Amino acid sequence: SSLFGNVEAFAGDPILSLNIAFQGDPRTEKVNLTIGIYMDGNGKVPVLPSVKAAAEKLGFGVRSYIPMEGLADYRRLVQELVFGKGSKLLAEKRVATMQSLGGTGALSIAADFLAKHTPGRPVYVSDPTWDNHHGLFQRAGFETKTYPYWDGATRTLRFDDMMKTLEEAPAGSIVIVQPVCHNPTGVDLSPAQQDALSDLLIAKQHIPVFDMAYQGFADGIDEDASFVRRYAERASSFLVANSFSKNFSLYGERVGGLSVVCATADEADRVLGQLKLAVRRSYSNPPTTGAQIVATVLGDPALRALWEAEVAEMRVRMKAMREALAAEVKKLSNEIDVGFITQQRGMFSYTGLSKAQVVQMRDTDGVYLVESGRMCVAGLTENNVAAVAKSLVAARG
Ligand code: PMP
Repeated sequence: SSLFGNVEAFAGDPILSLNIAFQGDPRTEKVNLTIGIYMDGNGKVPVLPSVKAAAEKLGFGVRSYIPMEGLADYRRLVQELVFGKGSKLLAEKRVATMQSLGGTGALSIAADFLAKHTPGRPVYVSDPTWDNHHGLFQRAGFETKTYPYWDGATRTLRFDDMMKTLEEAPAGSIVIVQPVCHNPTGVDLSPAQQDALSDLLIAKQHIPVFDMAYQGFADGIDEDASFVRRYAERASSFLVANSFSKNFSLYGERVGGLSVVCATADEADRVLGQLKLAVRRSYSNPPTTGAQIVATVLGDPALRALWEAEVAEMRVRMKAMREALAAEVKKLSNEIDVGFITQQRGMFSYTGLSKAQVVQMRDTDGVYLVESGRMCVAGLTENNVAAVAKSLVAARG
């Protein structure tokens, strides 16, 4: 047999495969509510005017190598966006921040870093979570476990069970926390629950890895960072992965950041060195364009104000589409409690629909959801929301 004859076929990523199926679906009324991409009211992935203006201002400049850790201005602006401009941690130079290949790249470097420097600890992720959390940390050599998160019967958070599991976890466990706009459920912790979880994480010396992929999509850019910022006032060692894929609509440019918070400036210096080494051994140094664009927007007061307004527009549109879907469902049925649609936050709504119901919506109406019942509300528009409601009500029987 040949050298690669026994290589197993890749099952494919379930969400990306659904998108391929959607592209091939000949029906004109089809609606794609699968992948986590923000679409505007015309069903298009927007080019933000702030991003376009920054790209024009930059032009096509030199494409030399940039440092392993990324562009200095970009890294400073990432830190200020995540931790707040007046952050004590930043003043004390206790944060090692890298430019990363999106949120995924940040988590990947984080997993490798933790595997090398804090090996052998269990990694806890929410049940359910973004699937790649399991994969990225397993690839780095960790065993992943879950903490309860979603109660399918009530479509709410299993907060007490979550706390119990993390209380019983071995001290010093790694805990992935999505601080805002939880993927896939859309259910977040209240500020009081965040504080109670923070107490527990600190008391148990767990290592939180905050995965913030949707900053600005719930209540506001600063508001959405408040969990991380309040945690930062109290804790000495934790990690934050952030992404600009969604809030800058720069998905394919791969722009994000990894920040490792340390106890001292000296520690942060050495940690940054190890992160640079990890990058050097993986892809050497990050790409230029996306980070230059983000740094230009965040660093220019006029472009930044424009961007903040654009993020607000995306946030408001998603909320309006939640309201519209709830109203359309209500028109068709009084049986369905639609409160969850408007209470959940961010891009996703976990509908509680079964796999059979999701398949029925897809086969009968060309309305595509993820088979877990996750719906991307950013794919709803004035033009398709009534049809989606009709399909949803029919599927529930
Ligand atoms: N974490 C979560 C929770 C996400 O939903 C996503 C994007 N789907 C990511 C990380 C990765 O984002 P990026 O595309 O920037 O790699």
